[in-house]
Amino acid sequence: MTQILIVEDEPRIAAFVAAGLKAAGYASHIEHTGTPVAELVAGGDFDLVILDVGLPDIDGFEVLRQVRRRSPGIPVIMLTARSAVRDRVAGLEAGADDYVPKPFSFEELLARVRSRLRVSVQETSLTLRHGGIELDVRTRRVRVDDKEIDLSAREFALAEVFLRHPDQVLSREQLLSAAWGYDFDPGSNVVDVYVRYLRKKLGADAIQTVRGMGYRLA
Ligand code: CA
Repeated sequence: MTQILIVEDEPRIAAFVAAGLKAAGYASHIEHTGTPVAELVAGGDFDLVILDVGLPDIDGFEVLRQVRRRSPGIPVIMLTARSAVRDRVAGLEAGADDYVPKPFSFEELLARVRSRLRVSVQETSLTLRHGGIELDVRTRRVRVDDKEIDLSAREFALAEVFLRHPDQVLSREQLLSAAWGYDFDPGSNVVDVYVRYLRKKLGADAIQTVRGMGYRLA
């Protein structure tokens, strides 16, 4: 079932949207603050995010930036009470797929949701392949030489970064910001540790060390 994350601090509006989505056959989950959103979305359970700009802790644009760093493909529709063109531009620049100004009718929002879900199914049903490695970004299935293997969520995120940039040398900083997404201690060896995990699962030669620069998918 399609799962939609509603990020909206006004209970009345959140409930209105959730009830409408339910009637249209979609499951939803409501968050009233922005802080947990990027982590939740990175968990992979949601197909689309409806994101309010005015939130009590961090503003919707910042939430959007955090989501985009970790989940570049998820469709995000922004809601805002502010009618300023500036907000619309800021939202689209920060990577929003669409924008619905408040007040809105549910039909209007639903039309955008349906159209975004259609686009995203086409875009994300793709499988990433390199050598004998195959990653289905939608089902999160991984195969190596036609054998299915299990990756943790973090291993999958890191593998996905490599497969999206085959033959490219990726620095530890690039890998950290793409797969972890928040400001890790740059002295942390977490990337090296996870590259070791991936080598165990994808093959010892799957990822090359490029001395002084980083790593590359072989
Ligand atoms: Ca609000």
